Amino acid sequence: MSALNLVMLGPPGAGKGTQAERLARAHGIPRISTGDILREAVAAGTEIGRLAKAIVDRGELVGDGVVIGIVQERLDRDDVRRGFVLDGFPRTVAQAQALDRMMDGADPLVVVDIVVPEDELVRRLLTRMVCESCGATAGGMDGGATPANCRKCGGRLVQRSDDNKRVVLERLRVYLRETKPLVEYYSARPTFRSIDGTQAPDCVASALVRAIQEVDGGPPGSEEGRR
Ligand SMILES: [Zn+2]
Repeated sequence: MSALNLVMLGPPGAGKGTQAERLARAHGIPRISTGDILREAVAAGTEIGRLAKAIVDRGELVGDGVVIGIVQERLDRDDVRRGFVLDGFPRTVAQAQALDRMMDGADPLVVVDIVVPEDELVRRLLTRMVCESCGATAGGMDGGATPANCRKCGGRLVQRSDDNKRVVLERLRVYLRETKPLVEYYSARPTFRSIDGTQAPDCVASALVRAIQEVDGGPPGSEEGRR
């Protein structure tokens, strides 16, 4: 069986993390989120983890070289033999080129881009509630019901502060600026698909499954979703 080597692109507010988690679970492959593996590497005290920690401790952003090193370390592990879902990487064309070098000889990357118009993203990000205690986000997304309390810690959910709103909008602006060339880098490939992220989460999930089957051939014997 071939591996599903999936890259998920999509701005903050597009619901990418949730979809990445669903796909990873459905295929029995790891979801690799750059934020998570960076934290893991720092906690494990690997060479690159210590390097990343030193950069973060100086208040600087971790650059391409470190991020690429951390992803390389993660992709060398055994549990990615049947594939992976990359969430949050690559963020730049340099990272995408590095990933192509890492994947030399492996099954082709399947790249999906969850597309949501900027004004809709702004609306979603600003109406999202955040947990007072741990900062996790909840509700206000995709028209879904807002839970009463934080799913992670049970804390009270509140509106974002104006400062927090500015941070979130800046993050979105940076994302859109950085990733436009990235989408151009991938979009000519036969294994690239754009997904309409304004649909309900379940419809986005089905569209993703169909897109992956289309470009990856789907599981043996399965014709579903190929129309
Ligand atoms: Zn919380």
